[in-house]
Formats: sequence, C-alpha cells, structure tokens
Amino acid sequence: MSNQRYAIVGAGPMGLMAAVRLLDAGHQVDIYERDDRIGGMSAAFDFDGLPIERYYHFICKTDDPLFALLERYGLGHTLKWTDTKMGYFYNGRLFKWGTPFALLGFPHLGPVSKFRYALHVMYTKGIKDWTALDKEEAGAWIRRWIGERAYNVMWKDAFHLKFFEYKDNLSASWIGTRIKRIALSRRNLMNESLGYLEGGSMTLLDRMEKDIVDRGGRIFLSQGIDEVVSENGRVTGIRTGDNFTAYDGVVSTAPIQYVPAMVPGLPEDFRAQIRAVENIPVACVILKLKHAVSENFWMNISDPGIAIPGVIEYSNLNPGEHPGQKILYAPFYMPKTHPKWKASNAELVEEVLGYLPRLNPQFKRDWVLATHCHRYEFAQTICPPGFQDMLPAMRTPVAGFFMADTAYYYPEDRSISESLQAADRLAQEVLEA
Ligand SMILES: Cc1cc2nc3c(=O)[nH]c(=O)nc-3n(C[C@H](O)[C@H](O)[C@H](O)COP(=O)(O)OP(=O)(O)OC[C@H]3O[C@@H](n4cnc5c(N)ncnc54)[C@H](O)[C@@H]3O)c2cc1C
Repeated sequence: MSNQRYAIVGAGPMGLMAAVRLLDAGHQVDIYERDDRIGGMSAAFDFDGLPIERYYHFICKTDDPLFALLERYGLGHTLKWTDTKMGYFYNGRLFKWGTPFALLGFPHLGPVSKFRYALHVMYTKGIKDWTALDKEEAGAWIRRWIGERAYNVMWKDAFHLKFFEYKDNLSASWIGTRIKRIALSRRNLMNESLGYLEGGSMTLLDRMEKDIVDRGGRIFLSQGIDEVVSENGRVTGIRTGDNFTAYDGVVSTAPIQYVPAMVPGLPEDFRAQIRAVENIPVACVILKLKHAVSENFWMNISDPGIAIPGVIEYSNLNPGEHPGQKILYAPFYMPKTHPKWKASNAELVEEVLGYLPRLNPQFKRDWVLATHCHRYEFAQTICPPGFQDMLPAMRTPVAGFFMADTAYYYPEDRSISESLQAADRLAQEVLEA
C-alpha cells in the first residue's frame, strides 16, 4: 500500500534511516524523539565550548552500509582514516599492542601462547558463517584456541569489566565478530586503520535530518511516545501525553526493553520474549585535557588497581579538530545492580582521574580542562549463546507495529553502520507487510 502514515520512535541513526527508507518508498513519516536532540547514542553535546559526541565513535574498513549512505549524501570526502595505535596496560606497565611485533615483544605470554593467539585472530578474521559459533560460549571457545593462561592474561579482565555476572555466558559469534571487525580494519599487517567523520557522526545525522525534513517528514524533539494504541490487534496511532494521533503503523527503534510498557496490546508471550533480552548500561566519563595520556587511540587495561576495561583517546584518532584539547573517554560498563551505578558522576570522574597517573606518571591535575559523564541505560545488549533464537520478530503480533534496536545487529557488535543495516531490514519488514 502506498502513502501510509508512519510514526517512528527514536531519532537515533536507526530511526533516521528507517524514515529515509519509508520516504523512499513513498510513505509519510513523523519521528518522535524523547531526547532534546537527534542522534541517540551517537548524539553530540557542547563540552565546554567543544561540540563532541557523548560516546566515542570510530569507523572500520568493513562498515559498508555507512559508506553507501555517505556516498548517497555526497559526504564521502568527510570520511578520514588514521593509522591508529593500540596499547595494553597490563599489571602496571603500558605495552604496545595490535601488531605482530608488539605480540612478539609482549613478555607475559610464552611463544606457544603467542602463536595460538595469532592463529585465533587469523582464523576469526576469515569466518563468514557465524551460525555454529552462535551456540557456543565465548570463554570456552577462546580458551580452546589460546589456552587457559593466555585467556587469563588477554581476556579475563576485559570480560569481567564489560559484562560482570554475564561474563561466562556470552555467545562466541558475538565476541568473534568484534575480533574480526578490528582485525580487518588495517592498512597493512603493521598498521591498524580506523576512521572518523569530519565534524563527527553529526555530519551524517544532520544530513539525514535535512533529507527527511526536505521530503515532508517531521521530527518532534522532546516528545517521547508514551503509548502505541491498538484496537483489535491493529495499530491505530500513538499517545504522547494526553494527545492521540492516528497512524497506519508505528516503527520503534527505541531499546526494546521500553516496548512492553509502551505497547499494551502485545500478547504476554511476546512481552516475555522481549524481557528475556538483557542489557548493560554505561556511564562514560569524558575528559578534556591539555596533553594526551598516551599515543594510543585505544588502550586496553588489565590491572588489579584499575576498574575500567580501557580508555579511548579520541584525539589520537581525530587530531585535527581539537588543537590544544585532548579528548579521552573512559567507559564504566556495569549492571544497574552494581553498587558503583549509584555513585555520582563527579565520583566516577574522580575515579578516572585517580587512574591517569598510573597510566602516565607525568599526568598532573592541571592538565584537566573540563570533565563530564554521560549515562545510557540500554548501552550494550548481552548476547548469550543461542541469542539468534532469542530475538523477538521485528514484525510483532500487533499488526502495524514493528521494532528493532541494537540487539538486532547480532552477531555484530554495536555500530552506526550496523544500525543503518538493521534499519534497512526493519523498513523492508514494514514494506513487505
Ligand atoms: C559507549 C559507546 C561506544 C560506542 N562506540 C561506537 C563506535 O566506536 N562506532 C560505532 O559505529 N558505534 C559505536 N557505538 C554504537 C552507536 O552509538 C549505536 O550503534 C547507535 O547510536 C545506535 O543507534 P540507534 O538509533 O539504533 O539507537 P539509539 O542511539 O539508542 O537511539 C534510540 C533513540 O530512541 C529514543 N527513545 C527511546 N524511547 C523513546 C520513546 N518512548 N519515544 C521517543 N523516543 C524514544 C532515545 O532517546 C534514542 O534517541 C557506541 C555506543 C556507545 C554507548
């Protein structure tokens, strides 16, 4: 059917992309966004005079859906690549990481472990069909390849600090696709190559917004959808506050955990399927410093005195945009049950500042120009073995109500590119229905 009216929940990359696709097919769209800005997890904020993303974003060589969209909007020239460096802070010492020489020089693994580690990365890089690994547990899979000792040195703390009580029940395919994505983003064997957009992710998101509005789509900010209204198993419209607006269909790109409360018409078994999908929140500290802490873009950390899995020095990826201002992100991933979730943002900032002299003994408090901390409740879906079968259908039992969120990238990890691809699939479901 042509020229239907759709409401879209959420103006993150997925909501914007779904709108673009529905407009392409000749429909009308209105996007409702609870936040005061577009972008969702990819949104930017004013960091003491510097427009910068709330969370770090890098682009990999395999992000084809993103490249296609950049081309569509004539934004290919804003995509820049940097030969990035990676570090591994292990038990009080910072090592180079991410090249064969770095692996050879790392003193905490024996030659056999190093060989097995390299073999595992090589193998994972070549996997095309992840079906078999969907059912396997990640820790067991990695241990089988690299051995118990190497697992303890390389992976144990990262799993603990990112996934806590979920750490021993993760899908191997979900971890494997992360290894593959980074391993394939190289200029050559010696150089990791990661990308960014000039002006940040907002360069693309603002262009999508303009396209949507130019074609008659409307974007309502600070207007969360409170209820998707249905009658006799079919969507009739939405409710925001006391206002009802009629729509032929509703497409939700909000975290699916919001859906059971938002869509009372869904049957209980479908709601239970949604509730079975778990998430981990993030509290991400962002610092503006006078100097870089290291030469690395990404520094993984495994150290008994440091309770974050790593720090990301964005200025070592995108050096041009912030002269004299070095941006560092430090994410705390933690379940809401973790006592630290109750800590104030100021306390989390202090904790990170306390770690910096360990990462770089020259660090001084007067390097700090500004600090901030953002939280996102549904930052990271937890994907246990067999996750493929756990995902509820995008086309729900309420006719005219469709949904997806970051869980639908599976087995891929979170990325804007995956968000665009999931939006394509979601829009396809709408059009086929
Ligand atoms: C710490 C961190 C690091 C990341 N690093 C990278 C990276 O390096 N590279 C990369 O490509 N990606 C990265 N990502 C992932 C990327 O940000 C996400 O994949 C992408 O933003 C997801 O977009 P989305 O539209 O699917 O969802 P979201 O961004 O979650 O958008 C959903 C939107 O729905 C809105 N909403 C919720 N409920 C309602 C309601 N009832 N009514 C109206 N609106 C509602 C929300 O406010 C939100 O704006 C990272 C994310 C985080 C958190």
